[in-house]
Amino acid sequence: MKQIYSKLTSQNVTIFTEMSALALQHNAINLGQGFPDYNPPENLLHLIHQNIFRDIHQYAPMPGNYKLREAISGKIMKSYGTYVHPEKEITITAGATQAIFTAITALIHPGDEVIIFEPAYDAYKPSVEIAGGKCVVYTMQGDDFRIDWNLVKSMISSNTKMIIINSPHNPSATILDDDDMTSLQNVVSGTDIIIISDEVYEHLIFDGAMHKSVLKYPELCSRSLAVFSFGKTFHATGWKIGYITGPDYLMKEFRKIHQWNVFCVNSIIQDALSVYLNEPAHYEYLSDFYQAKRDYFLESIKNTPLKPLKSQGTFFQIVDYSAISHEDDISFVKWMTEKIGVTAIPLSVFYSQKSDQRHIRFCFAKTEKLLDMAGESLSALR
Ligand code: PMP
Ligand code: GLN
Repeated sequence: MKQIYSKLTSQNVTIFTEMSALALQHNAINLGQGFPDYNPPENLLHLIHQNIFRDIHQYAPMPGNYKLREAISGKIMKSYGTYVHPEKEITITAGATQAIFTAITALIHPGDEVIIFEPAYDAYKPSVEIAGGKCVVYTMQGDDFRIDWNLVKSMISSNTKMIIINSPHNPSATILDDDDMTSLQNVVSGTDIIIISDEVYEHLIFDGAMHKSVLKYPELCSRSLAVFSFGKTFHATGWKIGYITGPDYLMKEFRKIHQWNVFCVNSIIQDALSVYLNEPAHYEYLSDFYQAKRDYFLESIKNTPLKPLKSQGTFFQIVDYSAISHEDDISFVKWMTEKIGVTAIPLSVFYSQKSDQRHIRFCFAKTEKLLDMAGESLSALR
């Protein structure tokens, strides 16, 4: 075997891959990796079905189907009151993961610092490291995972090039509010810091809260790349299609890398989405839909010793299991998969420093039937 120098020494496979494989091995109900167990809306599937027989099987334009970019621009105007130029400021991507990776690759140079908030979605840190950058970590505090923006300000150095935010937040299921966004604006004011705003759960937000997109804040918008995923919005995580928005000067740099990364993405699905997205009712129901699922899941675990934290958005629910076990969270989810027959994701994997957690994450994007079955199995916990 030849000697190679791994670019990512810290990681083998993601926790999602590991836990889904373990669930399969033990025939457990998989409430770990975040994906729905129901299909995308039928009308959207019909549009795709019709497209199969149309003459649209060749490369889409590099930045994406123009009709789809126009539909996205219209959607953003309706949702956030901001005009985003379809030609210059929107690119269709192979899911949010590729958008995040490409944005970081385009903008981060060796030695640059990127501030991330932990627990952090697992794609950010490796992407920064592959680009030669360094993550500077802010650890969110308390069971409500709050951010003290004065502390964030004190972490900024002349090397800070980027801040990555994520709301609604995976894995904590918390959201950033208006105060957070204006504080962030103060933190970056007078600097050249660029923001990546991961907003893939923009429509999954509960209890009457409104999503605070960077696109609503002109100062932030002028320095932000915002990332979205049709996988979350249309129950289609396997399609790997999403988009990124940003001002012209950032989008130009993004596309320089994008064209060598995927060049363009699935033509058939882009065309179908360009029609389907024009109707706001196709996504505006999602908060109610997922809030009902959150409440259904909470009801189904009500009589277990699992203590739920507040889930304000996403399709995740964090619970504290310390009334059941003092084991670390990785051992606990493995045990629960094997012995109880339900899989979850341990929270400690979303921290770069060893973190003594008694918190695990369940995905409730499931049919009531599956949530009932999970609740029944979890009732054996004591
Ligand atoms: N960001 C967050 C916060 C996510 O939870 C996910 C996937 N669940 C992604 C990005 C990646 O999205 P996609 O599947 O569209 O690549
Ligand atoms: N984002 C999904 C989650 O948080 C998983 C994505 C993946 O498996 N890569 O569960």
